[in-house]
Amino acid sequence: IMRRRLSEDDYVQGVVAGDRTILARAITLVESTHPAHEALGQAVLARLLPRAGRAVRVGVSGVPGVGKSTFIDAFGTHLTGEGHEVAVLAVDPSSTVTGGSILGDKTRMQRLSVDPHAFIRPSPSAGSLGGVARRTREASLLCEAAGFDVILIETVGVGQSETSVAGMVDFFLVLMLAGAGDELQGIKKGILELADLIAINKADGPNAERARRAAREYQGALHYVRQASPSWAPRVLTCSAREDQGLDAIWKAILEHRDALSATGELAEKRRAQQLRWMWSMVEEGLLDALRKAPGMSERLSRLERAVLEAHATPSQAAGEILGAFRTGG
Ligand code: GDP
Repeated sequence: IMRRRLSEDDYVQGVVAGDRTILARAITLVESTHPAHEALGQAVLARLLPRAGRAVRVGVSGVPGVGKSTFIDAFGTHLTGEGHEVAVLAVDPSSTVTGGSILGDKTRMQRLSVDPHAFIRPSPSAGSLGGVARRTREASLLCEAAGFDVILIETVGVGQSETSVAGMVDFFLVLMLAGAGDELQGIKKGILELADLIAINKADGPNAERARRAAREYQGALHYVRQASPSWAPRVLTCSAREDQGLDAIWKAILEHRDALSATGELAEKRRAQQLRWMWSMVEEGLLDALRKAPGMSERLSRLERAVLEAHATPSQAAGEILGAFRTGG
């Protein structure tokens, strides 16, 4: 079918009216790397920005197999059942490599994918983590402008993407499993510092007691972690995504967190700081991109990388030469 070209006004009005088809196309527009589309996308976004900001933004993280998609399916369905409009987005830079994206895959969220009060969008699959994160952030703002009041952003439990998602949400939820042996062994300290709530998933059947024990141990471990927020002490709960258990307690904790941080002004401050960091990360990425594309730079970079690897130059010397060449135009 022929798709009618949409004007800036068409996009803005369609999104505001909550038109899912136009919302999806607006997201495609801001994901595009085509210069003309990019400009139109940014113009649409700028006009919709004042309508964003009222949603609860929640990051959902955890290692593959922990139950993220099962959880989001159950949790999202619980929330739409309470009258919420739920958008599910994802940050998965590895989808660049595989070509297809796994996170936010509709076939893995069977209830939510047919729920008229939910909208699921897989991870953008083009570019660096920074690029993928920017597009997800912008998609989230578009969803908010379209009236979604809960945004769930899924990511995998591997390093940088978690930090990046934590930087675009109000609340960061980490799903974990009760391990067989020492519960604390597998904990990455970095994750505990990001988590506002840890939920031990698969707390069902013969696993329920083990999950409760793990929860107590994690709660103990959290005492040794620097608290990121003065008004919120991270918690540990158990849940079963498969049996819809513990979901309401998790939502209540998210709302309590929101109340606590709103009361002190911390939520608004956190969001402002996130905006500023976002700006700077785009400046950094843009500068690096410009540097790599400067005339003659590609050869210079490989030469200097080799020199550093073979200890013919110190990292400082090489960096000095790279920056010097960039400043003087290659
Ligand atoms: P993801 O890779 O983190 O998205 O994990 P999935 O949602 O795909 O779940 C991985 C496996 O764990 C699937 O076989 C699920 O059926 C199962 N699973 C997810 N949640 C639960 C749960 O609460 N209890 C049990 N017993 N199994 C679960």
